[in-house]
Amino acid sequence: MVKQGKLFVVTGPSGVGKGTILNKFFENNKNGVVYSVSMTTRKPRPVEKDGVNYFFVTEEEFKNAVVNDEFLEWAEYSGNFYGTNKKFVLEKLNQGINVILEIETAGARSVMEKFPDCVTIFFAPPDLDELEARLRGRKTEDEASIQNRLNAVKKELLVIDKYKYNIVNDEVDSALSKLQAIYDYEVNFENE
Ligand code: ADP
Ligand code: 5GP
Repeated sequence: MVKQGKLFVVTGPSGVGKGTILNKFFENNKNGVVYSVSMTTRKPRPVEKDGVNYFFVTEEEFKNAVVNDEFLEWAEYSGNFYGTNKKFVLEKLNQGINVILEIETAGARSVMEKFPDCVTIFFAPPDLDELEARLRGRKTEDEASIQNRLNAVKKELLVIDKYKYNIVNDEVDSALSKLQAIYDYEVNFENE
């Protein structure tokens, strides 16, 4: 029998640097782990590619997917819908492949309830001013979207102790090596 893959859930405030760290993580980890590409109703940013960053869909397509029970979890965030493809994740885990979800905190909580053994990793900003500076510096959001994202932060930080691991993303290289150390430990030693 194939050993089940492990489910990793990366979460944390928008703009903290989850995508930046995960992109680098996947450059170094080409085998045995996959990124779960979510579906969203958000409009693509100029650098984003359909099927790579997200599957970009209309609200109607998203609602059909909800009705057809296609999501492991889904959530509304800052006026858009986001959801994790259940079939993809379960297939990979059953094939013994580890899966990483990058989702907001309500979705993370729902996955923790369904998969108590999942490994949750919360990325925290060094401080709120730096988070705002990163969100603004990315130049992808309008002012309303920036405010929505900043308003969500206090609630997101309230449950920081619920996650198995916290990583403060101060420097990219140090956050990346912490993520790699957690991954290696979880894959090689935990629950052997
Ligand atoms: P998220 O995926 O969490 O929304 P991003 O990965 O898009 O966040 O990062 C938001 C912005 O912050 C980007 O412009 C990115 O280059 C920058 N950034 C990420 N990590 C760091 C860091 N450790 N130090 C400074 N800037 C960072
Ligand atoms: P963004 O619009 O910045 O790409 O994402 C906004 C938030 O939605 C981020 O916190 C991101 O992690 C989260 N997100 C992305 N995909 C999913 C998903 O499938 N489900 C949930 N619950 N959140 C998601």
